[in-house]
Amino acid sequence: MDNQTSGADTAFSKKFANVHRTIWQLPVPTIVLSDYGQNVEFANDAFLRNFSKEYEADDSNSRTMAFADLFQPSVQQIIQKACELGSAVREDGIRVNLATKSGIRVKYLDVHAVPLFDEEDIPTSTILLTLLDTTDQVQSKTQFAQSERSYRHLLETMAVAVYTCDMEGRVNFHNEAAVTLWGRVPELGVELWCGSHKMYTLDGTWMPHEDCPAAVSFKEQRPVKAEALVQRPDGNMRHVLVFPRPEYDISGNMIGLINAVLDITDRKALERQKDDFMAIVAHELKTPMTSIKGYAQILMNQLSELSNEKIVHLHERMNDQLNNLAKLVDRMLNGAKIEAGGLEFKKQPYDLGQLVAQVVQDIRLTTTTHQLKVNYTGPIITVGDKEYTEQVVVNLISNAIKYSPKANQVNITIKQENNMAICSVRDFGMGIPSEQLSSIFEKFYRVKTGMSNKFPGIGLGLYLSAEIVRQQGGAIWSESTINEGSTFSFSLPM
Ligand code: ADP
Repeated sequence: MDNQTSGADTAFSKKFANVHRTIWQLPVPTIVLSDYGQNVEFANDAFLRNFSKEYEADDSNSRTMAFADLFQPSVQQIIQKACELGSAVREDGIRVNLATKSGIRVKYLDVHAVPLFDEEDIPTSTILLTLLDTTDQVQSKTQFAQSERSYRHLLETMAVAVYTCDMEGRVNFHNEAAVTLWGRVPELGVELWCGSHKMYTLDGTWMPHEDCPAAVSFKEQRPVKAEALVQRPDGNMRHVLVFPRPEYDISGNMIGLINAVLDITDRKALERQKDDFMAIVAHELKTPMTSIKGYAQILMNQLSELSNEKIVHLHERMNDQLNNLAKLVDRMLNGAKIEAGGLEFKKQPYDLGQLVAQVVQDIRLTTTTHQLKVNYTGPIITVGDKEYTEQVVVNLISNAIKYSPKANQVNITIKQENNMAICSVRDFGMGIPSEQLSSIFEKFYRVKTGMSNKFPGIGLGLYLSAEIVRQQGGAIWSESTINEGSTFSFSLPM
């Protein structure tokens, strides 16, 4: 036994030698008090370590002084009560100010006072006092409550509509923005899936509440991202983007649903205005441009008789630029067509390999920097619109050349896989950051790196290519490694 257990010399230790040893080893901070709590007899190892106390075991004054700060009125009362009742008394979360090595600190204790009994089962004046330090638990509980309050405040005041549903799918919380969006206040704990008056799909079909994105997310236990129309009770229609997702507790059990609803009505209106504007501009440009091309051709015919090389070269440059302009106008017009309800395809069977080979031949005439390698064996027949598909191939190869200025090769492969015709265009250029890879097929999207801003473009080519491919029953995708290059592929049904 070390120094601390030499308390075995005290009256208590002599009387209760066995109990003393047991108490010393108890993992719970415990002290033994004599004379109805007036004097400290001894403190066990757990106690001394937990409260960083030291004392002279055989000096009763030293013992009492060492623990003086513990005997605050709230603790005294518990001891007194145990003495009076002659039975155990327990109170949890008692707040005390304790002297620690780093100064006075607020601590929370679970206090338990119990008298020792003699052989005749009569309570003696000796009290066993255990003091469990629960400060960490109390503090983390308070911090948790505080953090919950902060998050709730954040949810309540944020501009995005947010609401939650319980395990039965009933709305049990919503913020102010949700009320503004819905134009009504739902009855909490009653209404199912969301608080909107009525919902519709984007084509205007009525959507029963039990089929709404939140209900789907809840029933299929997966996050959903969807667009829909929400009608307010006053008839006002809002275009929304919703992100419902199931909520789980820390053990992984589903406990409900949380949904964030973004009102994109104004954004959509602006987009429509922009599309309309583009369609008008493109349409107005088309007529004078066709005339200019015609006049340029007549001019060329006349100039060629003069056989002035410089003038012929200048004319060729002008023609190239006119073709670029024509391409841009076509893209703008096609973009507008997609918005207005889709492209019109002239379906016919053709060999995708041959189509690509033809495009490559044309592009070779205009490219001095890159070698275009085509890997294609045998015919791969697909059915669709040749002209539109040609646009896709031109776009992918032009991009491969444009975005790999330091490279000198582009590989093009046409193959057949799972009843689909697949064309891949591989470059060895700057590549695309992985986090932007999923966005490049969006309208007007241009990769946000210092490098790509140096290249001319408006971010319509891939959007149109994707629409052309998808509307013909195919798919388009890309793989890329930054500074190593990209592969763009599309598939079309055979
Ligand atoms: P544009 O080239 O007119 O900007 P696109 O729709 O064809 O429009 O392409 C969208 C964006 O995708 C481009 O701005 C570019 O940042 C990126 N991109 C397309 N192709 C490649 C490629 N082969 N390598 C690297 N980045 C590319």
